[in-house]
Amino acid sequence: MGKIKPSRTREFGKGSLRCVRCGTHEAVIRRYGLMLCRRCFREVAPQLGFKKYY
Ligand SMILES: [Zn+2]
Repeated sequence: MGKIKPSRTREFGKGSLRCVRCGTHEAVIRRYGLMLCRRCFREVAPQLGFKKYY
């Protein structure tokens, strides 16, 4: 019998968001279901067909 994990369902809570590309917690954009931080989004956006996000 090990530790009992707290059953918190905070999948989308603050701090749980992580960039799927670089793993940062900073400014992660969940828009379009990409889960990317701003930096990665900027890099990936053109490939996805987004022009000029800024
Ligand atoms: Zn990133």
